Amino acid sequence: MRVFVAGGAGYIGSVTTAALIEAGHSVVVFDNLRQGHRQAVQQQATFVQGDLLDTTALDQAFRDHGPFDGVMNFASHTLVGESMQHPEYYLRDSVSAGINLLTATVQYKVPAFILSSTANLFDAPETIPIAETERIVPGSPYGEMKWWMERALGWYERIFGLRYGALRYFNACGCTPTIGEDHDPETHLIPLILQVALGQREQISIFGDDYPTRDGTCVRDYIHVLDLAAAHILTLEALVAGGASRHYNLGNGSGFTVKEVIDAARKVTGHPIPAQVVERRAGDPAVLIAAADTIRRELGWQPAYTSIEAIIASAWEWHRQHPHGYAK
Ligand code: UDP
Repeated sequence: MRVFVAGGAGYIGSVTTAALIEAGHSVVVFDNLRQGHRQAVQQQATFVQGDLLDTTALDQAFRDHGPFDGVMNFASHTLVGESMQHPEYYLRDSVSAGINLLTATVQYKVPAFILSSTANLFDAPETIPIAETERIVPGSPYGEMKWWMERALGWYERIFGLRYGALRYFNACGCTPTIGEDHDPETHLIPLILQVALGQREQISIFGDDYPTRDGTCVRDYIHVLDLAAAHILTLEALVAGGASRHYNLGNGSGFTVKEVIDAARKVTGHPIPAQVVERRAGDPAVLIAAADTIRRELGWQPAYTSIEAIIASAWEWHRQHPHGYAK
């Protein structure tokens, strides 16, 4: 397959790009490098620096490098907390960027599209673990934006026949030996914990311990980025082979509290990792655990990283080698 990967220099996008190349596919990465890292993009990929809000650059990339079998969209703002302060980055910018990409996709007759969607669609789940049939209640402007994009895909399918996969990630984490998680500023739990273990941070803040969970801290389903990458490739292959559009919840199916993640990191790193409970963070639901049975059944997807220790160990390996991320 020849795949256009928007946001392919970001964390999940760059790991998926590498996995696509390893599986023998060809990739064109389109990324504005605002959050992504040029070093994270495999040399075998064609790299185009550009912004999805720049329709001329986007058009040019499709003309110069197509035709494509599929488009993947990893490019968007990605933070629940930030979206509660700057909803316009999400409801205006990321939506416009996404619609520009959808428009180019159908204009250049690409048959299949994969959207990075999110567990933040499920702010008030009636059933845990959360299946694809769960009612949609976005928990933040970030989740709302992804829901709008999923609905837009439905319209692009109806109007233009585009087939799509909407992949709702639970908590992406872990690293490969060469590709890691490097956000600026860093807001994600596991890399922040590892910064404490590296001596770069005094302690980890626990955002609230009065949630209705076993130890009062939030429960999340942590899924390794390589397992997410594999899900993207399987889904795109199914669509390119003529399969129908689909929505998949992607997680391990088991949840860990913030305190349990910190404990696991203590075991992996041998560092005491001091922690302090602080206020809740706006927009955080208490429990998010995926029922990822649909993709297992339909595509035979099987996460390789099922233990939280193994996931943290893979991240620890990369962060020790890159204590200051890609910069140094
Ligand atoms: N969290 C925390 N302290 C931090 C960062 C995150 O307690 O410094 C918690 C957060 O409230 C959530 C979980 O860790 O319950 C995972 O948060 P993260 O930002 O990594 O991912 P998200 O769940 O927002 O996708």
